[in-house]
Amino acid sequence: MKEVLIATNNAHKVEEIRTALNFEGWTFTTLAEAGVTSDPAEDADSFEGNARIKARAARAAARESLGRFVAVLADDSGLEVDALDGAPGVFSARYAGSDGDDAANNAKLLAELAAVPDAECTARFVCTLVFIDEDGTESVARGTIEGSIGREPRGSEGFGYDPLFLPDEYGGMRALAEVSQAEKNGISHRGNALRVLKKALSQSVDER
Ligand code: IMP
Repeated sequence: MKEVLIATNNAHKVEEIRTALNFEGWTFTTLAEAGVTSDPAEDADSFEGNARIKARAARAAARESLGRFVAVLADDSGLEVDALDGAPGVFSARYAGSDGDDAANNAKLLAELAAVPDAECTARFVCTLVFIDEDGTESVARGTIEGSIGREPRGSEGFGYDPLFLPDEYGGMRALAEVSQAEKNGISHRGNALRVLKKALSQSVDER
């Protein structure tokens, strides 16, 4: 039996992680479920840096409140737009000012790209996962999905910038908000990062 603390309370992410890392005997608990409080400032300048901050803070907070070290998993993700020099990047959640205002973030992105030709509106979502085992061993996995930014929101699935993001997989004809969660998991940055992490962890599970 292995207990893994997921350093997020985002229900979509938790479900995706549980489904992807389906190792026998592994159980996943969110911070809220474990009664662990951890909300560090995410002030690194990279997704990996922020995921590491979240993972290390959750490990320390779990040690404090549970009295023992448990394995922890944290993620950080965002959108990089080439014509905007990689913005919004680590500021994706608060691009327009207030944290998590998806409509305002999308409106700002459309305004910033208004004068940029379609062919130059290329972008990618990036997700970095940091897993820290009970013994302190850290594993990092990165996943991306390439695409471009459309001119108007489309679809009602997903969250964040999904209505504006046109994955290359669909030749620019469908937004990520127009596909089911299961289909998104199969091509998304988070899905890809989880597949990389699963492969890395499978080797250490096999070695035990
Ligand atoms: P976080 O990793 O939850 O902090 O995500 C940061 C921000 O990046 C979110 O608030 C969204 O704006 C954006 N983002 C990350 N992943 C996705 C995604 O799968 N779809 C759309 N937006 C995303």
